[in-house]
Parts: sequence; C-alpha cells; structure tokens
Amino acid sequence: MAFRVPLPTQEAPNGLLERTVPFSAAGVLTGARTHLPHVVAWNLTKRCNLACAHCYISAGSWHAAAGELDTATCGRILDELLAVNSSPLLILSGGEPLLRDDLETLAERGSKSGATVVVGTNGTRLTEDRIRSLKNAGVKGVAVSIDSLSAQYHDRFRHGEGSLQQTLDAIERLGQNRLDFIVQTTVTRGNRAELPALAEWAAERGAVAFNVYFLVPTGRGEQMRGMEPEENEAVLRDLVALERSYRGRMMVRSKCQPQIMRHVLAGATDGDLDSPLLNYETRCPCGTQYCRITPEGKVTPCPYTPTVAGDLTTTSFGDIWDGSPVFASIRTGVLGGKCGRCEYRGVCGGCRARAFAEGGDLMGADESCAYEPTGTAPLIERRATVTYGSEAAPGMEWSPEAEARMQAIPSFVRAVVMQRVEKFARERGHTRIDLESLAEVRRAMPVDFSKKLPFFLKGGEA
Ligand code: SF4
Ligand code: SF4
Ligand code: SF4
Repeated sequence: MAFRVPLPTQEAPNGLLERTVPFSAAGVLTGARTHLPHVVAWNLTKRCNLACAHCYISAGSWHAAAGELDTATCGRILDELLAVNSSPLLILSGGEPLLRDDLETLAERGSKSGATVVVGTNGTRLTEDRIRSLKNAGVKGVAVSIDSLSAQYHDRFRHGEGSLQQTLDAIERLGQNRLDFIVQTTVTRGNRAELPALAEWAAERGAVAFNVYFLVPTGRGEQMRGMEPEENEAVLRDLVALERSYRGRMMVRSKCQPQIMRHVLAGATDGDLDSPLLNYETRCPCGTQYCRITPEGKVTPCPYTPTVAGDLTTTSFGDIWDGSPVFASIRTGVLGGKCGRCEYRGVCGGCRARAFAEGGDLMGADESCAYEPTGTAPLIERRATVTYGSEAAPGMEWSPEAEARMQAIPSFVRAVVMQRVEKFARERGHTRIDLESLAEVRRAMPVDFSKKLPFFLKGGEA
C-alpha cells in the first residue's frame, strides 16, 4: 500500500507536489518521514479570564483545570514530539496559558530540548515577574491580542472591562524587558478601518509582526457573522499595501486567509519581488507542517479544525503524525469545489478549517474567497523554490560546527536560512561554510522581515 505525499517533483491532483512513499497496510510509515511537524500549537487550557466573541476554543473562566493534561503527561508528549522533530516552533497557548502554573516548567523543558518556544496570550496577566520568568524559561517571543485601540471596542469584543489597558501596559513591559512580541488582531467589520492605525501603533511599539486574523466560524466564532468575500478581499489588498509600507521594519501578514497570495503574486508580476511572503510555503500547512494539541491531549490539523487525528493519552505523537488517516487525507486528498479547479490551488488552497466549518468537508471550497476561478487557467506556481518549511538540503560543504549551529534554529526556517547563507558565501567566493563565514553572514546579511534580528536568529545561533 502506498500513499502519495508532497515533495517538489510533480503536481498532484490536489495541487500539492508529490512523490510516492511507502506506508504499511496499517497506515504506518515504513520509509523515511516526509512531513515534519515544524510548528505545533498547544492549547494548554480552556480556562481564560476573558470570553471573546470569536474564541475558537470557547474558552472562559467557567472551565476547570480538571481534564487538562498534567505536567508529567505534557512532558512525555513533548519528548514524543521532539523525537519526531528535534527543533519545532512550539506555540504554548490556551485559553490563557498564563493561568497554568507549570507554563514555565513546560517552556523550559521544551526550549532546553531544542524547541523554539513562544507564548500566545491575551496579555492581561503579563506582569513584570511573569515576563521575567518566561524569559528565564527560554521563551523567545510572545503573541498578544489587540483588536482595537478603543477600549469600547476591544473590551466589549473580549468581554473584559479594562482588558485593553492591561494589555497595553503589558506591551510596554515586553518592550522594556526586550522580549520580542507580535501584535495579533482579529479583523471584523467593526475594526477593519482601524487596521492602518493599529499597524502604525504596533510598529512604533517595536512589534516584530502585525498578524491580522480572519474569522473562522468555529467554537464561539460560529455565532459571529463574518465579513463578506468582497470585504475580505478589500482587507487583503490593504494588508498587501501595509506589508510594503512596513517592510524591513515589521512583518505584516494575513492569518488563515491564504488568498492573500493572489495579491502578493500579482505584485510580484508587477515587479515587487521582495515581499517576504514569497518565501513562505503559502498553502495552509495544517496537517502537513503544522498541528494542534488540545488541552485534553487530542491532536487536530490546526487550532481551528476540530477533526481529531488522534489521542495522545493513548497513542504516541509520532504514531499519530505518521499514521493518522486524518493527516493522510489532508496530505493526499483532492481539493473540492472552486478551490479544486482554481489555478491558485497550489499557492493558496483556501482555509481547510473554514471549508469544514461551513460545508462539513475538510477538502471543500473556502467560500470566504471572492475569487471565482474558471477552471481553465494554468496552475500558478510559487516563486521561491525553497520556502519556510522546506527540507534543508545543503548545496555546499558545511563544517560540522556550522552545521550544528543550523540545527539549533527552528526546522521551519532552516532551509531558507541555509540557502541565504550559501548565496552570500558564494557571492564572496567562499567554497565552504564554517563558523567564521557564518559570523560574517550574520554581520552583513539583511533579515527579510524585520530590520531587527527575529527571535530565532538571536543569541549567536546563526
Ligand atoms: S480568544 Fe483568547 S483571550 Fe479570548 S477567550 Fe479565547 S483564549 Fe481567551
Ligand atoms: S486550516 Fe485555516 S485556520 Fe487552520 S491553519 Fe489552515 S488557514 Fe489557518
Ligand atoms: S478559490 Fe480557493 S484556491 Fe482559489 S484563491 Fe480562492 S480560496 Fe484560494
């Protein structure tokens, strides 16, 4: 029995690129592992001091800690994950993860074992002490949610009076403590016009990135009316313009609206080849490079997709990642509806969680998209051959020490960083990469999405 899984050789019907890899009849991988969980989001709790209107996990103060994985079980799962990928990007989130007393214990265990650990929080509980303890535990960055600079909007959306001010204070403290942070905003009809002001505010505060999330109607978000496809389209156009304005200073990205790539690629056709978004494997990575662990230990393709791929209380992470039929169906399935006949299916592919939420089919059409493909246009391919999440394949000789440095950066970015290091070295006539040439690169190489070094390149790793 053989499943087909992505690798850059030829196009599959689902728009992915594929090669054949052997699985046993039981669905267990028998050959080399061809997909790696580069990014893992871990919802450690459903408890939260807020109760936001759009919350995909329906978090709130009424949830109890009972039923959450305990510290020892989390440690065991972490070891299993690291056995599959020794350097993932691990996002510890919730609910509100700061409500877990063992957050730092888990962060430290992950970061000491090779993971790049970041924390997603509403920010209201980020005291000075907590920021310091997170830093001491090896946390490299924090993602904080701000939906508006108007307390009336933010506090009402988040169901927490005074929450905006608490989060603004936390962002000041993050800056003072030099812990990198990302500002995350969920766009709605109510705050859409404020996005340029929010981006400016975030850049002035020194945010590494401004991430704009589009509603996925799951959890409490099911009760919300999302924007119409044409409204999404207008916001995407605005975000592409904002990305250009802040390039080199702060990354601006759409989250869970991969349709932005139509606009980025149109810009590239018009001569803008510098967008850092071109370096991404732009199709949604859920189930291929990305997955989520729920507070109870279930694995799903992403935080917004409720479909359970396996249960970590009974099955190891590696067995679920390699053998789950849910992941196999995402990796091998054929996109349906308009996404299936769209020429952008290889670079966009739509949001699978939204397709599932709205049509009950993980591989169905993402109807939040305004584009109507004719089905006759030739497939559009991504521009970069090596993207974030690609397999790292050295094209030059690397000294063992230099190679070890590369192993210390997240697997997600390794291939792109190696490619740039090699390009830089070749341009200067080097034939081999060693620690000295790495240091030279580090001093001279521009970093594409931030003028500052991003968190994963700090600390002398590259
Ligand atoms: S969105 Fe975040 S802050 Fe809001 S209720 Fe959910 S977990 Fe809490
Ligand atoms: S399925 Fe949708 S929500 Fe999930 S990671 Fe992909 S784009 Fe985002
Ligand atoms: S139709 Fe689907 S694949 Fe095409 S751009 Fe829209 S969401 Fe992307």
